[in-house]
Amino acid sequence: PETKLPKVGTTIFTVMSQLAVEHQAVNLGQGFPDFAVPPRLVEALDKAMRDGLNQYAPAHGLPALRMAIADKTARCYGHRPDPDAEITVTSGASEAIFDAIHAVVRPGDEVVVLDPCYDCYEPAIDLAGGVAVHVPLDPATFAIDWDAVAAAFTPRTRLLMVNTPHNPSGAMFDATDIERLTALLEGTGVLLLSDEVYEHIVFDGARHESILRHAALRERAFVVSSFGKTYHCTGWKVGYCVAPPALTAEFRKVHQYNTFCTFTPAQAAFAEMIQAEPGHYETLGAFYEVKRDRFREQLLTTKLKPLPVPGGYFQLVDYSAVSDLDDAAFCRWLTEEKGVAAIPLSPFYAVPPPGQRLARLCFAKNAATLDEAITRLQRL
Ligand code: PMP
Ligand code: GLN
Repeated sequence: PETKLPKVGTTIFTVMSQLAVEHQAVNLGQGFPDFAVPPRLVEALDKAMRDGLNQYAPAHGLPALRMAIADKTARCYGHRPDPDAEITVTSGASEAIFDAIHAVVRPGDEVVVLDPCYDCYEPAIDLAGGVAVHVPLDPATFAIDWDAVAAAFTPRTRLLMVNTPHNPSGAMFDATDIERLTALLEGTGVLLLSDEVYEHIVFDGARHESILRHAALRERAFVVSSFGKTYHCTGWKVGYCVAPPALTAEFRKVHQYNTFCTFTPAQAAFAEMIQAEPGHYETLGAFYEVKRDRFREQLLTTKLKPLPVPGGYFQLVDYSAVSDLDDAAFCRWLTEEKGVAAIPLSPFYAVPPPGQRLARLCFAKNAATLDEAITRLQRL
């Protein structure tokens, strides 16, 4: 029988993490920190459970958390979404992305995605009966070719998906991207889904161009984030979606029958953490910038060539001085033979650029982990 997702196998993150375990490799593949979450967050979680916050949360999210998200958004981006009508807490950004797509994409609708893009986008589009239309980013800089995006729009275009800071490249929107995007969408009915899970991990004094800063864009956008990235707890799977009331109403129809609500104690803990320690997310960029700089300097002692990392916690490396294998084969070889797990870029593309020799390394790791990886990479 015909399957619903014929193109889907096991995700590259699962494959490479399993391979890393089998070969005792240092796992710089799947993106997750190997250091502790803030102590206050653990204490708040513990307290929430002891206080009996162990039953269903309101479907939209605990009011205290939606309030905290609204306040934080106002502080960061100068716009306060309405916590009752515009914010929904979800089981990670993954659920928010799935819900947003299912809320608006009808059979036959086209969704423009920019390759390379995160792997959960297209299966959600497919399940909704939509058609993913892939527009490649510049293979050298990962900049968006806005003329190509414009050329991909048709009368069936329903949604455009963007991601800044970008996984896997770390590329970030600048003011020109916002201008071009605003001009492109003006006068169309096209909606926007902005994946901003790395919103607080930005470097070199750059500003995160959240869609929420821009009135003309946010009025047609689902903006998605994840506490997993901001609070070093990818396994807690709590995220959220900010969208104008009419879009939120549709989004919540999907959310309530997908998961209904999300792990209550963690919601209470994030609410407390956001209000009590704004310094955590305000200094997250500086925290990761130290790791990025140290890791890049160490990479210069290897044959891998580091590409620029404006944001996020992934370092792309050009391995063409080491090997002419394609990226999937190279990452497998690196894991099995050299003891460092990495992620190839080809699974993030509908059509990978021919001859691209790039691998993704996660630097959200303790210095000791990165040191061990570098020792192994120096032997290439
Ligand atoms: N979008 C991007 C770009 C990501 O990197 C991730 C996490 N790897 C997600 C979405 C999913 O986030 P979550 O784990 O909160 O579902
Ligand atoms: N977002 C993580 C990454 O890009 C992976 C999450 C997952 O394993 N699904 O590495």
